[in-house]
Amino acid sequence: MAPLILNSLEKRFGSGAPAVRDLSLTVQEGRFLALLGPSGCGKTTVLRMIAGFEQPSDGSILLGERLLADAATMLPPERRNMAMVFQSYALWPHMTVAENVGYPLKVRKVAKEKARQKVREALSAVRLDAYADRRPAALSGGQRQRVALARCLVTEPDVVLLDEPLANLDRHLRQEMEETFREFHARSGATMIYVTHDQSEAMALATDVAVMSEGRLLQMAPPEEIYARPEGLVIGGLVGQGSILSLALPRTSSRSLDWPSLRVALDGSVAEGTEPAHVLVRPQDVLLDDAGLTGRVTSSFFEGERYALRIQLADGQSLRAFSRQPVRQGDAVGVVLQAGWRL
Ligand code: ADP
Ligand code: MG
Repeated sequence: MAPLILNSLEKRFGSGAPAVRDLSLTVQEGRFLALLGPSGCGKTTVLRMIAGFEQPSDGSILLGERLLADAATMLPPERRNMAMVFQSYALWPHMTVAENVGYPLKVRKVAKEKARQKVREALSAVRLDAYADRRPAALSGGQRQRVALARCLVTEPDVVLLDEPLANLDRHLRQEMEETFREFHARSGATMIYVTHDQSEAMALATDVAVMSEGRLLQMAPPEEIYARPEGLVIGGLVGQGSILSLALPRTSSRSLDWPSLRVALDGSVAEGTEPAHVLVRPQDVLLDDAGLTGRVTSSFFEGERYALRIQLADGQSLRAFSRQPVRQGDAVGVVLQAGWRL
């Protein structure tokens, strides 16, 4: 196996804005990459180009040294040793679970006994051993999804491509399936590329997150880094439940900010030598303390462990905060911003 390399990838459909533009990234062997971005930003198009269902208009796709596709070259999907799992599972209704999982082996004319063995292993990897003889109609949504995963395991692909595989499932099942995906990744050792518009899903599953917007790659990094050091307003607004404040910061300040500098910026007391900035503040970094800035609670919801608040500051800007103590809408509170990140 080898790294998957996308080089200045571009895809144009007709004359409008390109669906994918100048997208370059490398996925090292065995990594689990989440391709994250809002609907319509080009995620599926990237996946379809990798799989071989769509040809790049420009740029290239390589697996190690091997060129899979560029504007003049197009290796067919079956010669890329990849497997794609679709949102709509695409199981054959007239076949049993075992037959569905074994179908790719039948197409490849793998010997019967060997095929049976591989199907057994794949079903065991997704904990469906007991369901081999059922038909898809007799399974739950989560079980069907696991059949689709097992079917892609049997061919031992170098790269597994998943396009919003959990979008059709309810919340409870999604959490269970996230566990299955993590296990599947650990057991198969395959490189995985997982498309989603759900930031918490991307964070929970992946070893690396690539954030896309309007066909471009904005940032690619491990989840912790995307969360702690997001590059720019789009990612700042997408990842975590932060608030973005507009303020004037001293020109020399670093990207990582703390209370005294944030207080000064919000008080507006340093006019000279300042510049306008956007600062991301996470709710867990907002402390309710009478020594802080004055604010008013504009909404308060009890979430179970805590209250989720929206607080309006004197200058009209609003931010999210948490409180363990009951706080009511309309209450006056003091607000200390313990940490912020300049976007
Ligand atoms: P995402 O998966 O992030 O929601 P897509 O990759 O499906 O985004 O779509 C990106 C853009 O490309 C959209 O504007 C979509 O309308 C356009 N697009 C995708 N596939 C085609 C196609 N086959 N023909 C024309 N336009 C397409
Ligand atoms: Mg899509």
